[in-house]
Amino acid sequence: MLSENISNVLKRISHAAMQAGRSPDEVRLVAVTKTVSIEKIQEAVDAGLRIFGENRVQEALPKIEHFRSHENIRWHMIGTLQKNKARKAVENFDIIESVDSLELTEKIDASAGEIGKLQDIFVEVKLGDEPTKHGVFPQSVEELVSRIGGMKHVRLCGLMTVPPYGDTPEDVRPYFRKLREMRDGLLAKGYEVKGLSMGMSHDFEVAVEEGATEVRIGTEIFGRRA
Ligand SMILES: *Cc1c(COP(=O)(O)O)cnc(C)c1O
Repeated sequence: MLSENISNVLKRISHAAMQAGRSPDEVRLVAVTKTVSIEKIQEAVDAGLRIFGENRVQEALPKIEHFRSHENIRWHMIGTLQKNKARKAVENFDIIESVDSLELTEKIDASAGEIGKLQDIFVEVKLGDEPTKHGVFPQSVEELVSRIGGMKHVRLCGLMTVPPYGDTPEDVRPYFRKLREMRDGLLAKGYEVKGLSMGMSHDFEVAVEEGATEVRIGTEIFGRRA
């Protein structure tokens, strides 16, 4: 049952937060709905969820449209965003978490300016060295963050990462810790980067222990994707 899955995930988030001496309120659940139907998303809404993550603009648009009249539902773009889809993403997503280049950020800033929006974003950081993973290399993050500080229509909310796969959640802990240390370093230099979007079905408890402010969970809520 979907509502049972959701309450289980919420319990596990709370438990992990308390384990780490954090308040469970500091952690937002982003329910990842890629490949999930509108009917299922409606069930999740009925069960109380309000924040959803999608990784492709085209797939997300009809879902966002369907729930447009429903107040308080928030959509996060969490997948790689092509520059030519920046405008559509700005028009439709409350937060774009997968910002991975200066050029993309400039496009987002320009589009947001055109429609009179302040677009919330996260910078995606690439912590492993697999060729397939997206994100900004750690050594380039501060430069991008500093450039974002000069843009008028984007607001930087934090850092996001999809770490390399680890067999156990403990294998991934060092990456989550690394992202938190990067965030803390930026905060110490006066940059307003509060959030940490990290942790998926496989490893979200460890991510919460390491300071995640949002976890992005699909499988544990909706079941395995086909
Ligand atoms: C699919 C996806 C998730 C959720 O993954 P699960 O393992 O199903 O929880 C989280 N983040 C991103 C960027 C994704 O693409």
